[in-house]
Amino acid sequence: MKNYLIALDAGTTSIRAMLYDVEEKRFVLTAQQEVEQSFPQSGWVEQDADEIYYKAAYVLNRCVTNAGAGRVLGIGLANQRETVVLWNRETGEPIAPAIVWQCRRTSEFCAAVPAEMRKTIADKTGLPVDAYFSASKIKWLLGNVPAAKKLITEGKLCAGTVDSYLIFKLTGNFVTDYTNASRTMLFNIHTLDWDEELLAYFGVPREILPAVKPCTALMGETVLSGTKIPLAGVAGDQQAALFGQACYKEGDGKITYGTGLFLLFNTGARCVTSRSGLISTIGYSLGDKITYALEGSAFNAGSCVQWLRDGLGLISSSAESEQLAASVPDTGGVRFVPAFTGLGAPYWNSDARGLLSGLTRGTTKAHIVRSVLESIAFGAKELADCMQQDSGICLREIKCDGGASANNFLMQFQADVLGITVNRPAERESTALGAALLCGIALGLFDVGELAALRKSEKIFTPVADRTQHEKWYQEYLKAVERALMN
Ligand code: ADP
Repeated sequence: MKNYLIALDAGTTSIRAMLYDVEEKRFVLTAQQEVEQSFPQSGWVEQDADEIYYKAAYVLNRCVTNAGAGRVLGIGLANQRETVVLWNRETGEPIAPAIVWQCRRTSEFCAAVPAEMRKTIADKTGLPVDAYFSASKIKWLLGNVPAAKKLITEGKLCAGTVDSYLIFKLTGNFVTDYTNASRTMLFNIHTLDWDEELLAYFGVPREILPAVKPCTALMGETVLSGTKIPLAGVAGDQQAALFGQACYKEGDGKITYGTGLFLLFNTGARCVTSRSGLISTIGYSLGDKITYALEGSAFNAGSCVQWLRDGLGLISSSAESEQLAASVPDTGGVRFVPAFTGLGAPYWNSDARGLLSGLTRGTTKAHIVRSVLESIAFGAKELADCMQQDSGICLREIKCDGGASANNFLMQFQADVLGITVNRPAERESTALGAALLCGIALGLFDVGELAALRKSEKIFTPVADRTQHEKWYQEYLKAVERALMN
């Protein structure tokens, strides 16, 4: 008889449960549901937490039914980060729409935080002050949802991220894990506790926040198809991907090439303070042993390929970009900067806008497509250079995943630009895999020392010996970025 784990991946646009065969160490089934987002005002993004829970329960049940009674040993969870839910502790009902990580409604408040407080926040949480993180979203909800005040006085209010809401609904326990807590801007990543000074600053009573546990803690038990199943192994999605990609050693890093791009880099037991505007965060914890990470992200990556397809109509599928880009030896002097919604680290400039430069009468769509793919790789190089400078640690290899990592031209170009190998895994669902592996460790089914050997590469992209040409192109790209910043 087979034994399984379930990885529940509660993403922003969809919720998936994937059945993981413990003996064969691979996924055998996926159940998926799309999740709605609503945009009630310009810059506002909300979701219905109830819908997130019902769809999670639905996909979990699909997996349990397929596995057979008693065959699921545990559930691991990875989730969209920073999104905030407020709910009634007695009924489990959300009292307002969830404020999603992309929501900018608190950006004015964040812009007005004084410099001294910014420094305190950065020192304690590893985060720059931004509407992206949970603290200002909780503050907004407490100030704007009348039911919140009443529930606080009655001792019945819960505020948490998506993981803690799902765990509460599934097990009845009010808990979160270190990685999710580290994205709230209320959690001190050095003392591993909610921080009194930050709680006071954002007006958040400690009692409304969950208990914080290691990623591999037993969070509780849920009943599915009449069977009790432990829920253990929890991490934010990017951190779960870091773990799923076997980035267990200091200097191991992964890049997820999705809609946006996320580079996470293991800095070991050391919490590195970035001088370049990168985020210091908790990578994962095995019991109380914390592994820190540096994180850098670009808002637009795969979305630029979507733009080529849907906005410009230059390609009919994302995959077509590979063959078009490879059909020309270079971009013919064309440079693209993917600053559709500003530029993140190291610039943090929300006024910058996209740019296409160097056009001539000889420019073809192949040149433009190639310049877009090259810009994704150059953006990743900027982040990788910042990380290496900030940490003094040398990146040896990049492990890649996400939709656009399927693009062989992009992955080869990335290796050439970085001068290190880019390693694409056979299992590209790194986030779900991370949740399954953390769950297996929590339940004592896997030994962390053995996990690195389980990761199989599908393809390794080796850099060209002479990178002079790529360095020249990178300098051209940086010049184009300077122009994009002048917008
Ligand atoms: P997310 O999880 O952020 O929704 P995914 O990891 O599913 O994103 O990746 C989807 C993105 O990858 C899309 O923006 C799409 O344009 C891009 N993409 C998919 N396949 C390719 C490809 N072969 N080449 C380049 N980009 C691709």
